[in-house]
Amino acid sequence: MKNKKVVVMGLKRSGTSAVRLLLQKGAKVIGTDSDPFLKMDAASFRSDQVTLALGEHRDPDFLTADLIVVSPGIPTTHPILKRSRHAGVSVMGELELAAAFLDNEKILAITGTNGKSTTTELLGAIMRESGKKTFVGGNLGTPVSEAVLNAPSGGWDIFVLEVSSFQLETLVTFRPKIAALLNITPDHGERYASLQDYIAAKFELFRNQTSDDYALLNWDDPLIRQSPFRIRSKTIWFSQRESLQEGICLDGRYLRFKYGLSEFKLGPVELFLLKGKHNIENIMVASAIALLNGIPPATIQSVLGRFGGLEHRMERVRIIRGVTYINDSKATNVGAVIRSLESTDPPIVLIAGGKEKGDGFASLGALVREKVKLLLLIGEAKERMKRDLEGLTRIEEAPTLEAAVQKASVMSGDGDTVLLSPACASYDMFKDYSERGARFKKAVEAIP
Ligand code: ADP
Repeated sequence: MKNKKVVVMGLKRSGTSAVRLLLQKGAKVIGTDSDPFLKMDAASFRSDQVTLALGEHRDPDFLTADLIVVSPGIPTTHPILKRSRHAGVSVMGELELAAAFLDNEKILAITGTNGKSTTTELLGAIMRESGKKTFVGGNLGTPVSEAVLNAPSGGWDIFVLEVSSFQLETLVTFRPKIAALLNITPDHGERYASLQDYIAAKFELFRNQTSDDYALLNWDDPLIRQSPFRIRSKTIWFSQRESLQEGICLDGRYLRFKYGLSEFKLGPVELFLLKGKHNIENIMVASAIALLNGIPPATIQSVLGRFGGLEHRMERVRIIRGVTYINDSKATNVGAVIRSLESTDPPIVLIAGGKEKGDGFASLGALVREKVKLLLLIGEAKERMKRDLEGLTRIEEAPTLEAAVQKASVMSGDGDTVLLSPACASYDMFKDYSERGARFKKAVEAIP
């Protein structure tokens, strides 16, 4: 990187971390962002060390660069990136940039449409419990560059990385020792021309793996099981529906892990603090990766008895006059909402809506008809949701999330559950899903 000219495109969290990493490695950095008023964390780097171009992406910067590091939020089809690649400039993401400085034998990577954060944090908790110096980050929390910038003395023992499909689009050499694909359901229709393109991006995770590495794949997911993509690494399947000869599956109330000569059991499942069928999937993956790393089953079992999940994911907020309020703000696609509805007892008052991603909502139909007594819609997606779910339950609209909570409290009764599980992104009304979740909780706390 020494004296190389590198453009960092997109200066939010991962972009500013990439800038700091590049500066540490001696690169000459041009930072650019389409937002002319972008406020950067002043502590992140000294402005005299970096050439900043805010409000524009300039051809002369891009076309003469040695490397472009692009934010995952920017599609790789962006015209200036096309021109740059045509001019022979390599383009990669922050994950790829940073991971090149890590020992790939220590990289454990998790992707999937849903459950990435939960599985990543759970695996991180198990690794820490075992005494390993564990970096947890990637798409959630801390950018991978920070692992390089802030390594503890003696270095990290292990990297547990959440990886999104956007990050996977720009891989070059990233090669995790163990990589897991949790599930695939339609998402990000705004970014991908077809579901096939989205699936192809997810399978990029395994692209650089060799027969020394491991791939964990979901046997119950038809899009994964029937995918045409070839994987070179040792494949281990997991299933909650079928009893597998080899791999990970349910054996009564226990999880059974069997590969090669090793066999382990964890459970019974009612001792796990994470509830819901979808979390069995997450637990299977986190535990299997830990076992492959030689972590004793007793350590894993002990963490599973204490790890209750993350904020904004099926988070119980309060019970008021027999009505349970659940914050599932992170459910930003229909696949997540289907799992949330499956694991919630009816009658449900469902608050949904927000910024549409272009995947439609019809697949929620059967569960809405079966379990939802009232659907309260907010945000830009209202019209489309109404069209897709018309006639299946009572549907009403609310101008704000607070008004929706208020209405839900009036229209629910003893034994009901009020569930915020939007099936949409949050950017039409909120900064992000966590602000949406925090506002929901505040509104619930305010119910007299
Ligand atoms: P991600 O990081 O992939 O968005 P999270 O762990 O943050 O995943 O969970 C996002 C949403 O998906 C939450 O609503 C959660 O309840 C739901 N979810 C979690 N795990 C799964 C899974 N394995 N399959 C389907 N939905 C899941």
